[in-house]
Amino acid sequence: MNFSEFNLDARLMPGIAREGYVTPTPIQAQAIPIALAGHDLIGTAQTGTGKTAAFVLPILNKLLSGSQRRSRALIVTPTRELAEQIHETIRALGTGTRLRSATIYGGVGANPQIKALRQGVEILVACPGRLLDHINQGYADLSGIEVLVLDEADRMLDMGFLPDVKRILKHVPQQRQTLLFSATFPPKIEELASQSLHKPQRVAVGLSKPVHTVSHALFPVAPHLKTPMLLALLKQTDTDSVLIFTRTKHRAERLSRQIGRLGYKVTSLHSNRSQNQRQTSLNGFKSGKYQIMVATDIAARGLDVESVSHVINFDMPDTADAYIHRIGRTGRAQRSGDAFTLMTPEDNAMVKTLEKIMGRRLPREILEGFDYQQPANSSQHPPRRRESRQTVHHRR
Ligand code: AMP
Repeated sequence: MNFSEFNLDARLMPGIAREGYVTPTPIQAQAIPIALAGHDLIGTAQTGTGKTAAFVLPILNKLLSGSQRRSRALIVTPTRELAEQIHETIRALGTGTRLRSATIYGGVGANPQIKALRQGVEILVACPGRLLDHINQGYADLSGIEVLVLDEADRMLDMGFLPDVKRILKHVPQQRQTLLFSATFPPKIEELASQSLHKPQRVAVGLSKPVHTVSHALFPVAPHLKTPMLLALLKQTDTDSVLIFTRTKHRAERLSRQIGRLGYKVTSLHSNRSQNQRQTSLNGFKSGKYQIMVATDIAARGLDVESVSHVINFDMPDTADAYIHRIGRTGRAQRSGDAFTLMTPEDNAMVKTLEKIMGRRLPREILEGFDYQQPANSSQHPPRRRESRQTVHHRR
């Protein structure tokens, strides 16, 4: 199938071509016709599946007819980074249109957002808290919203945004189209869906299973050797771009400094950094200025980073869902990637859970040349880089 089969407005074709999309991804193939027909939709899709374009294209298509210069579509999403990414996708796919979008989120000045709201942009991409502020202060008028997207609903729940989302729902017209996307459906999300959608059709891709282009490897290691193991892994593996996840922001910061001392171009992404710093990190990582980015889960949620060759879980995530979201950064849209996880004895239960979900045993790897017997205090001296580029053994 190709994009012309959706019968989209011809003005959307330049954007699709410019983005290099030829074949719709499975979620796009399923969701776009339903959304174009005006139905409500529940999409089970993790990031990396092409879900952004699955809702952006039908929105643009719809907004090409009817009045301009007022807010007609609202996309609610949990993080600023996601909001920016969606905004970028709208801009890219909307190249051949005059439709505009604005982002609304906290941590940055409110004035440009208020200006955009006053001038009237057709699409708002918003995080719940700041949007609610604008509503309460009378700046945001949502009475003309025709399409509402609740993106990454499960993460909004995790981040405590559900009450805000429900308040926002009171300000959008009852008569509207609603599209809800979530990777998982805990009861509270099912409840939100039944409150906010009307006769939704359901589409699902990759049901809680990670994208298949990723190969997974576990590196069993004693807790005190995790840092030297990570540094050794970086040295021994032929990596283009690496996203490393830690459980805490302090650890993200510490690791990124340690990695930097070894001469790598590295940056970090976590909530102790200002919005400006986060954006600079992300842009630098995307552009290749930084080869490595160390991030926490929340900061990196749903990031659309092209061609990450490796995701390394320095710490095992707390939930299987978080694991799947993390590795969603690699192996995107037909690219292949590697996901390495440092595994300590306390991670056994989580590994079992992951293996159950994936329906197979994950390979355990031994890092050649790594001194597994070294005492804790030698952690600053990882083994020297080997001559061969790729010495990590994979069993694919
Ligand atoms: P998403 O799941 O929306 O974050 O998208 C993941 C990545 O896939 C993004 O980098 C998109 O630009 C890319 N993408 C989305 N749709 C397609 C498509 N039909 N063909 C190729 N790449 C796509």
